Formats: sequence, C-alpha cells, structure tokens
Amino acid sequence: VSALYIVPTPIGNLQDITYRALSVLRQVDCIAAEDTRRTRILLDFFSIHTSLYILHQHNEYKRIPMLISKLQRGLSIALVSDAGTPLINDPGYCLVQSCQKLKIRVIPLPGPCAAITALCGSGLPSDRFCFEGFLPHKHKLRIDRLRDLSEESRTLIFYDVKHRIIDTLKDMVSVFGLDRYVVLARELTKIWESIYGAPVGQLLSWVQKDHFRIQGEIVLVVAGNCLKKNELSPKILRVMRLLASELP
Ligand code: SAM
Repeated sequence: VSALYIVPTPIGNLQDITYRALSVLRQVDCIAAEDTRRTRILLDFFSIHTSLYILHQHNEYKRIPMLISKLQRGLSIALVSDAGTPLINDPGYCLVQSCQKLKIRVIPLPGPCAAITALCGSGLPSDRFCFEGFLPHKHKLRIDRLRDLSEESRTLIFYDVKHRIIDTLKDMVSVFGLDRYVVLARELTKIWESIYGAPVGQLLSWVQKDHFRIQGEIVLVVAGNCLKKNELSPKILRVMRLLASELP
C-alpha cells in the first residue's frame, strides 16, 4: 500500500523489533531515517537492503516536499528514528502533519518507546499520565516548567541525559519538595537496566553516591501531586509539628 509508515525500532534490545516492523522495512520503497549510519546497522542485522534517506530535526522541513512527491507518485515510505518511536521527541511530526493535510495515508505501527516502558515498570499510577519529554536546558526555564507542573496530579514522565540529571533532581527537590516520589529508569531493555524509585531527596543522595547509577539513557517517572486543595504539604506539616513541640 502506498503510505507513510511510522515504524518504531528497539531502544536497546534488538529482539524488541516487531515482525510487522521488519516486514514493512523490507517491503517499502524507501526508509526515511534520522541517522542513516545507525539505521544501516539495524537493517544489516536483519539483512534488509531498502534504500535510506536522511530526515533529521534540522532538515525535516526541506525534505518534506521530496518525500511527499514520492508518496503522491504511489511509493511507500517508512519513517524510523535512531531508537524507539518516531515523533516521540524525534523527527516526523511535520511530515505526518503534511501527509494528513494532503490526505496521504499514514500507517503508525506500535512498538518500543522509552516513556511507556519506564511508566509500565515504575509502579506509579499509569491510568492517567503526562509525557513531558526533555525539560528546558536553562536553569530558570527548567524551574518555571517544574513550577507549572507542581500541582499536576497525573504521573509525569521526563526524558533526561546523564550530564543533566543531578541538576534536574536538585530542581525537582527545590520545586516539588524532598518527599515527591521519583523513579529513575535507566538503560531500559539493555544489560545494565535498572529501575529505582525513592522520595526525590533520597534519590538525589543515592545517585550522588555512585555515578554509575546515572550512566546511560534515563527516563524519570514522577508521582503526581496527590495533595488535595487546601491540604498542607509534608514539609509544612513537619515545620508546624516542630513549632508545636516548642510551645509551652
Ligand atoms: N523516540 C524515542 C522513544 O520512543 O523513546 C525517544 C528519543 S529521545 C531523543 C532519547 C531519550 O529517550 C533519551 O535521552 C532517554 O531519556 C530516552 N531513552 C531512549 N532509550 C532509552 C533506554 N533504553 N532507557 C532509558 N531511556 C531511554
């Protein structure tokens, strides 16, 4: 079928590719990939010889007319990213938007996604959640974003990188308080996979004790704010108890 296929690829463990993903990657006329070298390694592993085009964040706009014209001529294209599901903090949104506007068929395949994998292993409520992707790099913007989210009652999911994770956790402590429960899911589906959850103050000390604990790829899953309106936070309650104990 002539269509744009959205094809998730493994986030670490090659066995996570689906049968359907492999058959689509074999059958399409070409594959639009974020990094052709990385995708070539995956394709070689599965002996797939389909031709590759590069589609990364910075050239997505420029490449769209060429890909759209192929689709309009009846060719089929698979979109893949470096790892996981395309469009989820990866390129593809503009291309899919253009296809939908032009009534070109888009066929999204289900498959690996770090956010969903982390949420499912976190032990935090999964019935309602917010995916927040990466927090802003700049300290002030990051604090502003966390403040906007501090009342959110749904589970929050963030992507992060090892050289920023300590700052992220410090900022979470300062905005959410020491007691907000946070799960650090690292190297999912890989040999050193670990999922560790604790109140964020303790989690920060835990990662500071051993830098191996933040090596590799990281997702943070944060408990939603479960305080009811007008209810006092544990921090304020602690201070009040302390003050009360000093009263005659
Ligand atoms: N499209 C991808 C997906 O579906 O998950 C996400 C791409 S985003 C550019 C890369 C981020 O995803 C990493 O910085 C990390 O936060 C997260 N990630 C990807 N693979 C991971 C893994 N195996 N374990 C933990 N986090 C991972």
